[in-house]
Amino acid sequence: MHSTFEKRLHLGFLQLHILHHASIHPIYGTWMMDELKDHGYDVGPSHVYPLLKELMQEGLLTMNEKNEHGKIRKYYQITSLGLSILKDLREKAQELTEEILDHHSKEEGKHESNSSR
Ligand SMILES: [Zn+2]
Repeated sequence: MHSTFEKRLHLGFLQLHILHHASIHPIYGTWMMDELKDHGYDVGPSHVYPLLKELMQEGLLTMNEKNEHGKIRKYYQITSLGLSILKDLREKAQELTEEILDHHSKEEGKHESNSSR
């Protein structure tokens, strides 16, 4: 990762990604790491665990420990607060994606914020 600014943006994307998956089913750290690697991210425990911790501190995730074959595994699940934030971010992400991808493929200087589809 390059600048601090770029890193911060990147972390925001990762947290949104984590929230998304935690809304589908409970996740654990190594599962999330594998998922992000499948998406082409180069992430390790030093990336994923602090993000999970921060999402918990913000009240967006809850954690439950489960004993699986004698091994304690921490499962993270989205909270109702997390869900409402995710819903809001999804709409914003969709709108933003449409705009930046759409705009990118169009000629410069023809920007319309509410283009008729
Ligand atoms: Zn994913």
